[in-house]
Amino acid sequence: MRQRLSSEPDRYRGRRRVPTPPRSRYAAVVTSAFVGAGVVALGAASQLPDAKAVNPTVLQNLEEAATTQDALAERSIDVAAASRGEERTTADPKVSEAEAAAQAWLLPLEDYEFTAPYGVRFGKLHAGIDLAAPEGTPYKAVHGGTVTSAGYSGGYGYAITIKHDDGTETIYAHSRRLLVQAGDQVKAGQIIGEVGNTGYSYGTHLHLEVHVDGSPTDPIVFLRSHGVDIKLKIESVMGSLAAS
Ligand SMILES: [Zn+2]
Repeated sequence: MRQRLSSEPDRYRGRRRVPTPPRSRYAAVVTSAFVGAGVVALGAASQLPDAKAVNPTVLQNLEEAATTQDALAERSIDVAAASRGEERTTADPKVSEAEAAAQAWLLPLEDYEFTAPYGVRFGKLHAGIDLAAPEGTPYKAVHGGTVTSAGYSGGYGYAITIKHDDGTETIYAHSRRLLVQAGDQVKAGQIIGEVGNTGYSYGTHLHLEVHVDGSPTDPIVFLRSHGVDIKLKIESVMGSLAAS
């Protein structure tokens, strides 16, 4: 049996090594990797005895995962470029935690069941995604902004529209109860309403829409490009990394 030169698994042998990048770069890479390859990143992260002593092989894996995700995001949505700019800014250790929190995009619910995707359904565009949760479950603003409408709105039932600084709007529909009013400023993660079954709705759920330039877009794709994975239920890890 041949002698092992290191404790690394064989699959890592002979791979190109990359120099350890500066810390801010590491944070950006890990953030991107979480977006597209949460499971990979989580697995890799668990191999790290200390985030400051990063194994270059792990970094390379994360970088490859991030590159793949970037390519996917570019194909799917234009705002990906803007998002990556944001991530770099946020990963900068000079940015305060408060600023990072203000820039954060988050999941709208602590827990939920993803029940319907964005897309054409019964010959009609389902302009958002459906997240089922028990009646009365509090839901949160996915990003900071200004409430532009909050009230009963036809098929949407009790619904909230928030306009964000980048011009994007998020809409939260079928609520049992609304906890904000038009004109309110809200922060990312602030509880704004309760899940219900009002309007054109079968079953208690939150219907979430994202509008870019006034038109609906797939919230899954949009939020993924902003560090939130609805299907994996992973939020941005920018804040915790920057603070570590
Ligand atoms: Zn829906």
